Amino acid sequence: PVVTRFAPSPTGFLHIGGARTALFNWLYARNQGGKFLLRIEDTDRERSTPEATAAIYDGLKWLGLDWDGEAISQFERRHRHAEVAQAMLDNGTAYRCYATQDEIEAFREAARAKGESTLYQSPWRDADPADAPDLPSVVRLKAPREGEVRIKDKVQKDVKWQADTLDDMVLLRSDGTPTYMLAVVVDDYDMGVTHIIRGDDHLINAGRQSLIYRAMGWKVPVFAHIPLIHGDDGKKLSKRHGALGAEAYREMGYTPATMRNYLTRLGWSHGNDELFTTEQAVEWFDFKGLGKSPARLDLKKLDHVGGYQIGIAPDDVLLADLQTYLRATGQDELDEEARAKVADVLPLLRDRSKKLTDVLEKAYFILGSRPFTPDAAAEKLLDSVSLGILKELTAALQHATWTLEGLETCLKDFAQARDLKLGKIAQPLRAALTGRTVSPSVFDMMAALGKEETLGRLQDATS
Ligand code: GLU
Repeated sequence: PVVTRFAPSPTGFLHIGGARTALFNWLYARNQGGKFLLRIEDTDRERSTPEATAAIYDGLKWLGLDWDGEAISQFERRHRHAEVAQAMLDNGTAYRCYATQDEIEAFREAARAKGESTLYQSPWRDADPADAPDLPSVVRLKAPREGEVRIKDKVQKDVKWQADTLDDMVLLRSDGTPTYMLAVVVDDYDMGVTHIIRGDDHLINAGRQSLIYRAMGWKVPVFAHIPLIHGDDGKKLSKRHGALGAEAYREMGYTPATMRNYLTRLGWSHGNDELFTTEQAVEWFDFKGLGKSPARLDLKKLDHVGGYQIGIAPDDVLLADLQTYLRATGQDELDEEARAKVADVLPLLRDRSKKLTDVLEKAYFILGSRPFTPDAAAEKLLDSVSLGILKELTAALQHATWTLEGLETCLKDFAQARDLKLGKIAQPLRAALTGRTVSPSVFDMMAALGKEETLGRLQDATS
């Protein structure tokens, strides 16, 4: 059975690159009917606050990336890591090194002076344990000194390093705490992880980690190291490119489905398919589709995906997304009545909306109440000429048939009789009905609002 995992170090938020890593592991597990596990790499006690961990759960939950079982704390497993270090000492694949920092520095300096490799070579590697001094020690891996270290990678293919470029890495520090290298391998093994998809900044780690697997006689998992996400300028994603945390995208109003679709395409492809549902992504996801060159974060494309996803979202999902957005941005959620009003006109609100902010902006016509004070842009449209026209229109609308077609006919006839373009009427009409310049079409709004409310708003604006 396939077991994947996401193993973030808490940093205070769910990084967008981390979100993509989590998504790929989740997609593969779901595609294979396997398990997707979550491990919090919380060994850095300074940074690993409960808030930082909660931010990761929160981001994953928002994205709908449910993990199987309880999240695992790496820190809580430190005794098990030490146990494995002991097992490696026992089977001769690791040794205790008593070298001091000064001795290590001196070794490096001497090597530098001779123009040799500065990788530390401990004299304790081949020492007789009986000669062990009563001094603090670290546990080091007895790494191969000759030949090659190879891993197979689904994206990078066969990767190899000369063994003499990899040092005898520390597994256990002198205070008995495990290093990252040891902890990751022990945890992945104990969790039964079979496939590891992660950023290619971990590629060299995979080579080194494979040595620990082999030292313990454990099966090396399948690796897939994916290129990191780049900004629109082609450079590695950083703060100056804008939002880095998943929650920032939530606050901008993107829906979870939009993010899943967009992030799936960021480094993975399925023919020419750009727009797809999460179910399709689960069905299609494979290692073949993982790309070798870095994908660029592109907000225009994200908007494009957003338009598609808001268009196809089931009503209840879209309504729940709206509430989540309102909560996340510190606004009041829609109450029962408002929710029902929005639900009634949802097709009008979805139309051409890319983000939930667009949906809410359009919902103002149904959520707001009389009188509608025009904003600056709307005020401009409501000059005396337009107000005169709107007054006449109010009278004409008294006799309109209150259906979409009836209203369209009424407005067209009205415009024709005065030799006016429809826009000359529709724009101030929109401003009068909503106090704004962005809304669904005036016909849709009038039909949805009903005759009494429509005429009331027009009277407010023109009197
Ligand atoms: N904790 C590591 C990170 O956040 C990931 C470790 C791994 O995936 O092996 O970069």
